[in-house]
Amino acid sequence: MSPDANSPDSLRFGTAGIPSFLKNISTWEGIEIAAKLGLDCFELELVKSNWLTGDIAQRIKQTATNFGIKLSLHASYFINLNSPEEGKRLASIERLLSAARWAEKCGAESVVFHCGYYGQRSPQESFQSIKNSLQEIVSILKFENSPVILRPETMGRRSQFGTVEEILFLCREVERLQPCLDFSHIHAREGKINSYAEFTRILVKVEKKLGQQALKNLHLHLAGVDYNEQGEIRHINLEESDFHFDEWIQALKDMKVEGTIICESPDQARDALLLKKLYLGQLKPEEKKFFEVQFSQD
Ligand SMILES: [Zn+2]
Repeated sequence: MSPDANSPDSLRFGTAGIPSFLKNISTWEGIEIAAKLGLDCFELELVKSNWLTGDIAQRIKQTATNFGIKLSLHASYFINLNSPEEGKRLASIERLLSAARWAEKCGAESVVFHCGYYGQRSPQESFQSIKNSLQEIVSILKFENSPVILRPETMGRRSQFGTVEEILFLCREVERLQPCLDFSHIHAREGKINSYAEFTRILVKVEKKLGQQALKNLHLHLAGVDYNEQGEIRHINLEESDFHFDEWIQALKDMKVEGTIICESPDQARDALLLKKLYLGQLKPEEKKFFEVQFSQD
């Protein structure tokens, strides 16, 4: 029951957190306004602290259900499943478990998280350590009958664990994991992957490694991104970036990708709507510079 009759269930577009042009409102009000703008999904940002309570989770779940918004949740930034310090690794496990439990209370299907840093370890050792931690987490969630999908994210800095290959391999090795592909990170990490052919190649790789169903419930992040030789520096709006998002949308369409796209630009509602309109063919590429979000609070 999305407010937009043209909204395809196949690919949903939404914001990371409350649209940034709205000030001093609750998350459930932010979800309602996002829906009224024509968006169809929303990522709860628990990245710096956990601001949820049982009551807030209930209101979020109710609002999302009422407005047909699909929820996901981004876990704490303070997770490093590859920490050589056992205390930090265990605290990271606890944070991810907590995120999954809150996601269930809010009715969020997926939890997105950053696996951690290589530190002094090789990529192979890091992989093993992260895999072991995730197996422990998944076994606990299974025991609790949690329906939540854990989604390790592809990362934008070279010091961070999370190339496309690492994330796909992790999803193959650990049950119940599915990827979060952040194409801005993928682009910023190497300064490449910015054309229709390269986007398609990544999607074909996902299909090959994880099967066709992975493309039918894919979770994607996108923002404009500023980067240097170490990778990502900061998020910027799509129009200010060098990212070829019209080619990206075309690749998703042609590969018949289904799932959710969460926009993380500073003006994330505008960019999410821009992408959605391009996807639906309601906006020609030459019109995109003049695109504005029209919203009046009624
Ligand atoms: Zn992230």
